[in-house]
Amino acid sequence: MLETPLPSSEAKMLHFFGSEKESKEFQQCSSFPEKITRIWKVPLMQELLKKSGKQVSQKSEGESRRNREIGNKHFQAGKWSLAASYFSKAIAFAYVNDKQQGRDLSLAIANRSAALYRLEKYKLALEDIDYALDAGYPQDIRYKVFERRVYCLIGLGRLEEAKKAVLQLQADLGTSTLEEKKKVKIEMDANEELKKGMSKSSDAVEEEAEPWLKLPTMEKRHPTLPAFSSALELKYDEKKGRHVIANRDIECGEVLVIENPATACLYYDKREEHCDNCFKYIPLRQIPCDHCSALRFCGFQCKKSAIEGYHQFECGREDVFESVIGQMMQEGKTNAKGTKKFHRMALKTVTQKSLAWFLKNKDKLLKVHNSTLSFRDEYEGVARLVGHHERMPQTRIFAFLMSSIFHLRNLQQAGYFGVKKNKVFENLTEEELLIGELLYTFLEKMQFNTHSVTQGEPDKQTDFENGLLNPGLLYENRIRCIGNAVYPSLAMLNHSCYTNIYKFFVGPTVVAVACQKIPVGNEISENYFPVVQILPRPERRSWLSQSYWFDCSCTGCLQNLPNIQNSDTIPTHLRCERKECSGIVTEHSCRLCSKKMDRELRISEIQEVWARLKDLRKECHSNAKHEELLKLEKNILQKYIRLQELLSLPCRIMYEAEVLYWRAVRLAHGSRSY
Ligand SMILES: [Zn+2]
Ligand SMILES: [Zn+2]
Ligand SMILES: [Zn+2]
Ligand SMILES: [Zn+2]
Repeated sequence: MLETPLPSSEAKMLHFFGSEKESKEFQQCSSFPEKITRIWKVPLMQELLKKSGKQVSQKSEGESRRNREIGNKHFQAGKWSLAASYFSKAIAFAYVNDKQQGRDLSLAIANRSAALYRLEKYKLALEDIDYALDAGYPQDIRYKVFERRVYCLIGLGRLEEAKKAVLQLQADLGTSTLEEKKKVKIEMDANEELKKGMSKSSDAVEEEAEPWLKLPTMEKRHPTLPAFSSALELKYDEKKGRHVIANRDIECGEVLVIENPATACLYYDKREEHCDNCFKYIPLRQIPCDHCSALRFCGFQCKKSAIEGYHQFECGREDVFESVIGQMMQEGKTNAKGTKKFHRMALKTVTQKSLAWFLKNKDKLLKVHNSTLSFRDEYEGVARLVGHHERMPQTRIFAFLMSSIFHLRNLQQAGYFGVKKNKVFENLTEEELLIGELLYTFLEKMQFNTHSVTQGEPDKQTDFENGLLNPGLLYENRIRCIGNAVYPSLAMLNHSCYTNIYKFFVGPTVVAVACQKIPVGNEISENYFPVVQILPRPERRSWLSQSYWFDCSCTGCLQNLPNIQNSDTIPTHLRCERKECSGIVTEHSCRLCSKKMDRELRISEIQEVWARLKDLRKECHSNAKHEELLKLEKNILQKYIRLQELLSLPCRIMYEAEVLYWRAVRLAHGSRSY
């Protein structure tokens, strides 16, 4: 959603430039390098720039120890999850030397492994044991983690490894200064536990990987737009702009889009429980950045790729623009959330690639036509998204340029352009101006083309009334937004209030499936937020025109379809029996082909299918086992496909069946927090 960005009024712009003449001259600059240079040189800007981009260490011995102590208290009280989360904070704040080691660090990690062991998360605990040892866990108490390793391996049923771990424990105890009595006890207990483990059945109690994170397969991909199925075709016309149609009949349930984002940013408030690099939900165990306490990762692989990539240019840097905006939002002067979220997205779009790459590719990023129907990579795709530049008010251009300039300063200091520039120079180099212009361009595109990345949330008992899902809660309520992303191919789809696809996310990767039958030639559309099932027409249309600057002319709006509350459960619009005919049966024959039909028989079948779907709905909840959910999804899809052959809108049954299908897909696939 789009909100008013920072200094958005003419008055603020005037104040910034100091005189009407300067402000006018800025507005009349025809090129971005010129505009950027003008803002850069304003004395007020120079002052702000001097404050910007300083690097501060966020590590703190005090914070690390304080959190470890809180964790210890929770641990003693048997609150293992809570303890683990405080140990994670302790780990994030602990100092790390250039050998990746630190005493506080290793102690906090070892404590977390104990909490994970109690939670029976043995694999995670084992990973933390290795992590603690690598982080320099003190020699004299190493037997503690060696002992825990034995128990974790037994817990996992990996008994051969457990035997070896016992030997390692014995060897370590041999060199330990621990009291002899204690040593004997530890050894005996471990051997005892191992014996018990051997006598149990040999079925390994492996913790299950997350099967819902598996990406579906796409039968055949589009020849030039690999994120699309080959059933989709990109078209252009003056009225609709770029849009996507079906080049054959598409059946409900077909996978139509699988796309990795050009850029994705996790929300700030999700950083403690998600990997910043791959968005994985990792509430119990995360690896922090070595230099700042802000970012957490799911493992060393993600950490490495973030730190060697985009994160090195933002790590520990104070962002003055960010703090100015944050302050203004708090004071209620502006609701700048929108600019704030695009702000880091634009930066990451730059820092994911090198300066050399942009120098090589600048023409394809800056000289583009929106009507072009293909692109070679995701950056060219971003460059081809609509930005409505001709309609952009000067005040917004100004706000976006301010954001770009603060980033530019950060990038200078972080060494993105080669040498680190600590002094604020009066002039910008050609390369800096290019990156400044790109930052602006990305911001402009992002305001109209950013998708929220979501994750499934568990159902609550109160969602159900009399065993039926409360219709008001049937929709998107059990998902949570965790970040933002740009998908150049998905963004080609126009909006419809009555969308025919359903989306879910695996990490930051989006998957879209057809949630209706889509006949050849029909447009594939997605929903930007207001759906026909819930919001009345005037509200939908005013939201769209405010946020996306267009008047909606989708089928839902043109036919003025009623929403779920106002539609009848009695089936009225029956479909013709002939599969190839799209006619509706009034009285006892098809309006299109005149074929006769027994209405009563059809209505009784509709009611039968609907009754079965309602039964399936009762089983479709977040506590169900994953294999069950996969079966349910199949079953629901099959019944819902039949219903689409029998019945047409408007009818409440059709809406509810569709929404049930969305629900089944959502529960069976994609990221979740439970
Ligand atoms: Zn990750
Ligand atoms: Zn960092
Ligand atoms: Zn509409
Ligand atoms: Zn017919």
